[in-house]
Amino acid sequence: MVLQHLMTGLPEDLVTFVRELRAVRDRYRHVSITPVDIPCASIRLAVVTGQPLLDLVAFTIAENQFSDLLDEMLATVRVQRPLLEKQIDRIKIHLKQVDLAVLAFKGAIDENVYFRSLAQDAAVSQELYHFLVNQAVRPFLVAFAREYASRLDLTHWQRPYCPICGRFSDLSRLSGDEEGRHLVCIHCQSMWEYERLACPHCGNKEPEKLDYLSTEEYPGWQIHICQRCQGYVKTVDSRQAFINLSVLDEFDTLMLDIIARKKGYLNERIGPILN
Ligand SMILES: [Zn+2]
Ligand SMILES: [Zn+2]
Repeated sequence: MVLQHLMTGLPEDLVTFVRELRAVRDRYRHVSITPVDIPCASIRLAVVTGQPLLDLVAFTIAENQFSDLLDEMLATVRVQRPLLEKQIDRIKIHLKQVDLAVLAFKGAIDENVYFRSLAQDAAVSQELYHFLVNQAVRPFLVAFAREYASRLDLTHWQRPYCPICGRFSDLSRLSGDEEGRHLVCIHCQSMWEYERLACPHCGNKEPEKLDYLSTEEYPGWQIHICQRCQGYVKTVDSRQAFINLSVLDEFDTLMLDIIARKKGYLNERIGPILN
């Protein structure tokens, strides 16, 4: 209910686009990765030293599934965003010469430099190429996280980035008590503890430089802002609403990004979704 409410402010064609993208991802929710037998001690050490699991464990995916998923994603964007048709066709041709295992890994760790060079090669927008791979790799990242999550003890992780895929989070949940807060990774659906009064973007802990924007029209949601770096974190107060954050994606909270952006707060990770 609350989610639908959050999407209702968006233009209808964008909502349709999002629904179609999700339908593609959903069809591939049972994709597989090849698990690696890794010693528990290595995993423990990675957690203690702040190394995301993707740095340590090979991300070996079923390439034929990834290829099919990319094809469907391209076809969907081509239909839903006719203005991008030429670029989509160029990406489709370009993908034939790309090593898909490398592409999936670079997508999983979100390596900008790699996508800049791919996009230059294909003569398309970097944002678009990056966005497509990002979407296509997600079911595999979720499978990867699912495989290893139970082996990670995250009690002392407390970092602003994801223990599995290493991406920074801009989504959090306040627990019922006064202390608790969790950050959520929309890419691999992981969740871990983080300080309640700190900005995950710049580490600022000065209370007078941390505040929140009220979002009365979206019950249970707050936008926590940082006056030092102008960053923000979309936050659910679980005392006011129950929302299962682990199933959200970036589209669910777009209205909050729009509110934050209007007030001058930044999020470079939103990419081409709004355009
Ligand atoms: Zn993650
Ligand atoms: Zn900050």
